[in-house]
Amino acid sequence: MAYYQPEVAPGLPPLSARRPLINEYFLSAYTMSVYNGCELGCPYCDSWVYQERPLNETIAIPVDLPQRLAAVLPNIDRGDLIAISALSDPYQPAEQTYRITRQVLQLFADQGQPCLVMTKSPLVLEDRALLQKINERSLAIVVTTLLTLDQHLATRIEGRAPSPQLRLELIAELKRAGIPVGVAIVPVMPYINDSNLNLRRVLHACAGAGADFVVWDYLHIPNERHRHRINILLSQLGSYPPRYYRDIYRDQATVNSIYRHDRDRELWLRCNELGIAPRAPHRMFAGKLSPRNEAALLLRHAAFSDRMQGRERLFNLHCDLAEAVYRGHFRAVDLRQSPLYPTIGPLLGLSTTA
Ligand code: SF4
Repeated sequence: MAYYQPEVAPGLPPLSARRPLINEYFLSAYTMSVYNGCELGCPYCDSWVYQERPLNETIAIPVDLPQRLAAVLPNIDRGDLIAISALSDPYQPAEQTYRITRQVLQLFADQGQPCLVMTKSPLVLEDRALLQKINERSLAIVVTTLLTLDQHLATRIEGRAPSPQLRLELIAELKRAGIPVGVAIVPVMPYINDSNLNLRRVLHACAGAGADFVVWDYLHIPNERHRHRINILLSQLGSYPPRYYRDIYRDQATVNSIYRHDRDRELWLRCNELGIAPRAPHRMFAGKLSPRNEAALLLRHAAFSDRMQGRERLFNLHCDLAEAVYRGHFRAVDLRQSPLYPTIGPLLGLSTTA
């Protein structure tokens, strides 16, 4: 049991600054977290790095967050999505007592603010009516994390989190409630959950549960203390080659490009086989975000697909166009170079005739 510390932080911004690029995984222009600290304390989580105190021991309860958020929400464009996805789980045990996340969703529902909630906990189902209400006015997506179906492994890498089976049931329950749901295989961890077999099983289960899409990203090791934490985790899990991560990380914070491309392609191919979208599908956000955000996401998602198919020139073009469109500095002549122009041109109010 963690220690809960109610806090007020007048003047502390409740949201991140508007992102310089739209987040292609979570469709977001802004990010926020609710609680400061996370009782689930998954050892791989890089939030450990950003806390002064042990991540899972003291949970700061931002009792004035709803007031701070209410003050800034009128200035946020309703076409910009806010993702509650940073640094802590918004439905960790503290939510049962304090209901700060519920108050945040109530504000979003009142304003019709598009949002995405990332959680491992079925507690989110207690707010399904609020999520449905947001979806009636704009867009509310839930994303849950799923790293493995192996209960033995799950216990060792995220033992305080709800089991994989509970999360699969959560996906199915959200779908029954008509709420869009995605799965984040985040993080994919070399030697731990990155085998073809494990990833295929996870994708298969996601498709079976009815998830609308999956996304994935790789273990982040921002500093030496976290590297040490990961080394301990690995030593507890089994015997690994000495300096196992040296080739994959080369003492950097992220995996090298060869490893990333290899795993990306494996996941992308299996998604195609199973008919599950490897990014949020257009039908989910069409007309729900600002036209610029919608077009920027289409371009980013096309860029990912281009890269997976070896179309480097189109990949670079679509990345550049996505950035320009999101920032509002695009030129029609550049957009016309993209095969997506017949879709994104009209979205942006441009003519489709030459
Ligand atoms: S639940 Fe999420 S935020 Fe909390 S410790 Fe685990 S990975 Fe980190």
